[in-house]
Amino acid sequence: MNILLNTTAAKPPYGAAKRALEIGADKVIAELKASGLSGRGGAGFPAGVKWETVRNAPATPKYLIINAEESEPGTFKDRQVLSENPHAVIEGAVIGALTTGCTQGYIYIRPDYRKPASAFRKALEEARSAGCLGENACGSGRAFDIEIVHGGGAYICGEETALINSMMGLRGEPNTKPPFPAIAGFLEKPTLLSNVETFGYVPWIIAHGGEAYAALGVNGGKGMRLFSVSGDVAKPGNYELPVGTTARKLLEAAGGVKGTLKAFIPGGASSSPLPPDMLDTPMDFKPLAAAGTMLGSGAFIAITEKHSMREIARNVMGFFEDESCGKCSPCRIGCVRINEMLAHKGPARTELMLELSEAVMQGSLCGLGMAAPNIVKGGLKYWAQDFGR
Ligand code: SF4
Repeated sequence: MNILLNTTAAKPPYGAAKRALEIGADKVIAELKASGLSGRGGAGFPAGVKWETVRNAPATPKYLIINAEESEPGTFKDRQVLSENPHAVIEGAVIGALTTGCTQGYIYIRPDYRKPASAFRKALEEARSAGCLGENACGSGRAFDIEIVHGGGAYICGEETALINSMMGLRGEPNTKPPFPAIAGFLEKPTLLSNVETFGYVPWIIAHGGEAYAALGVNGGKGMRLFSVSGDVAKPGNYELPVGTTARKLLEAAGGVKGTLKAFIPGGASSSPLPPDMLDTPMDFKPLAAAGTMLGSGAFIAITEKHSMREIARNVMGFFEDESCGKCSPCRIGCVRINEMLAHKGPARTELMLELSEAVMQGSLCGLGMAAPNIVKGGLKYWAQDFGR
């Protein structure tokens, strides 16, 4: 089944938002917790817990931010949702705002997402005309509206604190946490910040119940999610499948491999690659962590035998070297040095590369540095022969 993709796009008036008002904030949060919905930007934090934290935060005003700075290589799901089903995201945000007490919303969209931004802007106007946004959002008697903000095109601004800094006119660099945005975020106020997909699933959950959503998952997973599938597959694209679907089934849904599979990256370029004999791993946070990698934003990349894993690692590390914000030295310098070693002609400096990768991952402030060397660590673990000259 499909909820966000290839489905009849949601339209105002927002029935799920009306239902959220009828059942009240406590029940909405209970439904979210029962659904098992977790952040779909990569971190996987439980949505219900985040909403409860913002709701209970005493400071006002409170802000809501939809994170559409979708920059992880291999991830392209949010742009399809924003283009084809923007009202699901707006309605999810309205429910979030009315539940937690947010009075102003923003969507932070990467600058080259012109078509998604245009579709979203049109949907915002429709929502305002229908009374779903504005001074009396969905007849709640409370004000809520959403403004579009364009980022400058930096990968790191997908990290929540860097995004907030960017919105406040500061350098787009991550902060140390705590405080978390749910307590002190935009303008130091409580901020409900989640990914496009996360908000997009909320209306269905409120309309059908959290347990019904959770029951859609398989192999211990809860609910549905979007997977961006790319690389050497017959039909690259976005696929909406149950959480816990195996990597093998996902690959089949994308038409299979074009060639002989050598490796697959399950969660975007910052996740560790796995060999084909691990294709039966469920695409969910815990099973992938147990396999030594991560689900991240659900971006699956198939790699065939024609590729050298060393070249893949150079490509990925080159991206992270460019996108490192430079705030902390393990990431700023470490990514450069790892790339130098990958470019070095002669026998691979395997031990040094592994040691440096570990140092970067342990010493970095944010997820970029903590995860960037995964491609090197995983590559050396399973395809060490590719790294020699
Ligand atoms: Fe910036 Fe990298 Fe440090 Fe993150 S880990 S704060 S991206 S330098």
